[in-house]
Amino acid sequence: MDNITRIFQIESSNFDEIISAAAQIIKQGGTVAFPTETVYGLGADALNPEAVQKIFQAKGRPQDNPLIVHIADTEQLDVLAKEVSDSTRNLMDAFWPGPLTLIFRRRDIVPDVTTCGLDTVAVRMPDNPVAIALIRQAGTPIAAPSANISGRPSPTTAEHVIADLSGRIDAVIDGGPVRVGVESTVLDMTSDIPVLLRPGEVGVEQIREYVGEVLIGYTDTQVGAGEAVRSPGLKYTHYSPETRLVLVRGTSSAVVDKISELVRKYGHGNSRVGLLVTDETAEQVSADEVFLLGSRYDTSAIASNLFAGLRHLDLKDVDVIIADGSIGSDRVGVGVAVLNRLKKAADELIEL
Ligand code: AMP
Ligand code: MG
Repeated sequence: MDNITRIFQIESSNFDEIISAAAQIIKQGGTVAFPTETVYGLGADALNPEAVQKIFQAKGRPQDNPLIVHIADTEQLDVLAKEVSDSTRNLMDAFWPGPLTLIFRRRDIVPDVTTCGLDTVAVRMPDNPVAIALIRQAGTPIAAPSANISGRPSPTTAEHVIADLSGRIDAVIDGGPVRVGVESTVLDMTSDIPVLLRPGEVGVEQIREYVGEVLIGYTDTQVGAGEAVRSPGLKYTHYSPETRLVLVRGTSSAVVDKISELVRKYGHGNSRVGLLVTDETAEQVSADEVFLLGSRYDTSAIASNLFAGLRHLDLKDVDVIIADGSIGSDRVGVGVAVLNRLKKAADELIEL
């Protein structure tokens, strides 16, 4: 798999042309990375097993980690899923198109490779004009996990996709940076009480308004080998830079003190330290490399900068990255998702 990856740069005049060239690749069983509102996805025809297999190969994705299938209208859902309950329809009405993935009982038309043999399928309708036009034009649901090498931080720009997958995929559509920056919320609707399998921008408190009780089915830690998990993806290392990552959690003043102490501890001799910190923390501490996440009170900004920051510092030849966990509302909305990704990425968690 050492081919040339075509780069389609969206400009105001060439939208239709690019979408039809990219859709043609999908129809022919190829792979195209494209922007969604969450992160860039690596897409292939969800109903074509050979095409879907190329996604696993390009990413080095474990064969037991099922894919999310992206649709452009609810008619496509009826092809994939059976038994769509009223409460699920309410969620679709409220949050689609948008960053909420729902798990359904699947129909036989969905190949085993897409769902890794599960009798369920994960589906969402992305809120991005490029993604929607591509799915429509391809005329088929598109399976698309994040367009990164497995285990690395998800891509939020086309440059991130190219850095990971150039030569391994047929094309990438560059539609600029994504809006949300962390992957979709995943909610399993196949049991009596819905189960939240991954936090995202759509928060559990918003979901509860539509379906009542929701169980929490994810952890913030990496699940140990051999432990049973309901969503196979939960057990793999995720979002990780290659550099050692230390996450510091606590009140903002305690975190600032701890980060200063760690900069002194790690920054001896030739060792270089990188900081992934809020604007407020950066006013009080410094190091060899500093990446600003945004204000600690602006969790949306932090979410959209998070993966770019991990990738940026990873390229800066630092020996350790110290991440600031003192973000504002970390218990609601996208703050929950940011903390979840940081904790899963971290090699060491310091809770103050
Ligand atoms: P990614 O596409 O890389 O963002 O990952 C998709 C996530 O959805 C992974 O955590 C998968 O394990 C999860 N997922 C996909 N399909 C299913 C399914 N049928 N049941 C449970 N989890 C799923
Ligand atoms: Mg992923």
